[in-house]
Amino acid sequence: MNSTKSLVVVGAHCGDAEIQAGAIAHKYAKAGWEVTFLHLTAGEKGNPTHMSVDEYRVQKIKESHQVAKLLGGSSITLNYKDAELVLSDEIITEVAKHMRRLRPDLVITHWEKSIHPDHMLCQQIVQAAQLKTGLVGFELDGLPPHYYPYFHSENWEDMEEYVPDIYVDVTEEFETYLEALSHYWFIMNSTSFRYYDYYQALGTMRGCLNRTKYAQTLKMARGQNVRKGSHIPGFEI
Ligand SMILES: [Zn+2]
Repeated sequence: MNSTKSLVVVGAHCGDAEIQAGAIAHKYAKAGWEVTFLHLTAGEKGNPTHMSVDEYRVQKIKESHQVAKLLGGSSITLNYKDAELVLSDEIITEVAKHMRRLRPDLVITHWEKSIHPDHMLCQQIVQAAQLKTGLVGFELDGLPPHYYPYFHSENWEDMEEYVPDIYVDVTEEFETYLEALSHYWFIMNSTSFRYYDYYQALGTMRGCLNRTKYAQTLKMARGQNVRKGSHIPGFEI
């Protein structure tokens, strides 16, 4: 039995998972966890003018492997099209198969509300796949069922009602995180959003609130933060 712990970060487009939780993932990778960035699409329609959508898809997947390697993990990109995601049994089953194979102890994905439909669908797919991964009644290539808890993390496109529940100190990981991010063309060169500046500032701001130099945040999935017992947790009587 493999005792290595596993973290899977699921994003709608190559780059989302890493900007949202790359520093946290790097921290867990350094501690011996197996880290996987799972991208539902390459995010290829943000292509620069000098490159076709198909060419940019190839480039983004290549970049995702470089970034994942620097963060101590690996990258998987599914073959769905950017800005055309749908909540289908096909993609839920595909994600569930990856989850049964990767057997994550923890999953991180987008928040529920977003200005990008792919992001909202991504977290719905992760939620639906949680059930399909866990239920013994679903036969998936002979892979044994597996249950995973998941958290949401922070993305500039998903900020409506995103209030963090958890701050993680990533002071020791932040330099590597920024270096890794810089390997994505869009993070350094997008003319529609200042990705690098935003995530550098976000990690700094979250760090201020966490009383550490840098931090990244998580939000509990709905219903996950319910604790039942004889007293208030942390206030035993
Ligand atoms: Zn995205």
